[in-house]
Amino acid sequence: MTLTGDLFIAGERRSSEQRFRAYDPSKGAEIDDVAFAGASDQDVEDACAAAADAFIPYSTRPLEERAKFLEAIADEIEALGDELVERACRESGLPPARIAGERGRTAGQLRLFAKEVRDGGWLKLRIDHADPARTPPKPDLRLRTVPVGPVAVFGASNFPLAFSTAGGDTASALAAGCPVVMKGHSAHPGTAELIAIAIGRAVEKTGMPKGVFSLVNGMGRHVGQGLVANPHIQAVGFTGSRGGGEALMKIAAARPRPIPVYAEMSAINPVILMPEALKARGDSLAKAYVASMAMGAGQFCTNPGLVLAIDGPELDAFVKLAGETLTGQAAQVMLTAGIHEAFESGKAKLAASPFVTTVAEGAEPAGPTQGRAALFSVSGKDFLADPVHLHEVFGVSSVLVRCADMDELVGVLSKLEGQLTATLQVDQDDYQDAKRLIPVLEQTVGRIIANGWPTGVDVTHAMVHGGPYPATSDGRTTSVGTLAIERFLRPVSYQDMPADLLPDVLHEGAQAGVLARIDGAWAK
Ligand code: NAP
Repeated sequence: MTLTGDLFIAGERRSSEQRFRAYDPSKGAEIDDVAFAGASDQDVEDACAAAADAFIPYSTRPLEERAKFLEAIADEIEALGDELVERACRESGLPPARIAGERGRTAGQLRLFAKEVRDGGWLKLRIDHADPARTPPKPDLRLRTVPVGPVAVFGASNFPLAFSTAGGDTASALAAGCPVVMKGHSAHPGTAELIAIAIGRAVEKTGMPKGVFSLVNGMGRHVGQGLVANPHIQAVGFTGSRGGGEALMKIAAARPRPIPVYAEMSAINPVILMPEALKARGDSLAKAYVASMAMGAGQFCTNPGLVLAIDGPELDAFVKLAGETLTGQAAQVMLTAGIHEAFESGKAKLAASPFVTTVAEGAEPAGPTQGRAALFSVSGKDFLADPVHLHEVFGVSSVLVRCADMDELVGVLSKLEGQLTATLQVDQDDYQDAKRLIPVLEQTVGRIIANGWPTGVDVTHAMVHGGPYPATSDGRTTSVGTLAIERFLRPVSYQDMPADLLPDVLHEGAQAGVLARIDGAWAK
């Protein structure tokens, strides 16, 4: 398929004078086959207005049609074949197996949301029947959720498929009944165009209103900021840097009618090596730790950027083996020149801290945007003395915190900012201490993992990929898993509404097969 680089506004391909090129991080050079259009203010307005026009026609279609639309997007993405994988690899520097896996995850996620749409549990149906004999008389009250309206989505650079144009935020917003205006990530514009074409085909095939999806690109911050400020937009889904997320949150809060921003930003994802686990399997833990850290050039939001353990000979052996393993780690191509630069500067700041020891470094880079792995250590006492240790260094970098005892370890944990995950390497003889840690971790993270590694986020019903600020802007929700749909819904109550005016799902006896709370009792 020939890419044109044109914008994709409510099914219409639109050109523009401003153009930018994609970048091949493995070559450190622009990709010169096509120049991508940057959106003007008018393009952004048109995309948002089309989304607003599509909102009621789309959200009031039968749920079965909405589910089929999501499935059609999955089918069309798969039908793009190898071209999608090749383009995404070229724009991200990620290997084909990883991108092919991500394509499977993206399609699977869309199909899971199609099932979720059909399930209807997210409608949160509740009926409280009237009781005219009560004093005062009790009204008839019926509740269901409704979609919030058009959603602006900012995709991530590190998952050009699964967290981008048709990724988790787009899938959950469309599942909720919300049209999407996508701000294409400048790191993978060709990949985004291919996916937009696939979505466009699904719109055509299922007869959805064209404004249900648009893609606007643009270098610089203007397009994204205009999108969040646009009055048609009712919520924002974002994955990226803390600086980017916070800038968009400020714009959203300053609007005459503020809107929620669901931003997934930065995390260092502590891993705690409990004493008995460290004693029993320190060697395998050291190797698995480096493998988790190095996955995808360390560019996972769940990368284990922090390891905490109690000082002693077992920790010495762990640090030695982790350092040796990391020394053999080849430098890997990073996603963009900017991310590579941020990685180098983050490591330099850590290395310059008077409290930090550089334990080991990986092999020297052999290409322009290759990141050299690094492992640092610091004592528990010193960790909190310098805020540099709390900041995410996005890439293959991690800090080991050597604590004097369990009290110090708990003290360090309780001072951490909000995180996406915490991991406990724990054996049965550690359970007593672990029980003390869990309430602290519950206050700090969105997902607590036992005897695994944080990298790898399953898309299921019980997944939480979220966490208190600054892991996300709103720790009450998740951006992965079916619960993500709730971000784009709000409840509406209908009081004493004649049956003819009620939504079908709230008619008497119409809840069969859908979880509902009728006069306080749960029923399905
Ligand atoms: P980013 O620089 O925050 O960019 C994400 C998206 O937001 C892009 O579309 C970008 O536009 C836009 N954007 C960024 N700042 C903005 C602003 N001030 N106003 C308006 N729009 C703005 O993130 P990235 O390039 O994907 O990755 C960089 C950093 O993000 C990494 O170093 C890492 O720290 C973090 N990250 C975190 C996660 C996570 O899940 N927690 C995932 C990926 C990345 P352009 O395309 O025009 O730049």
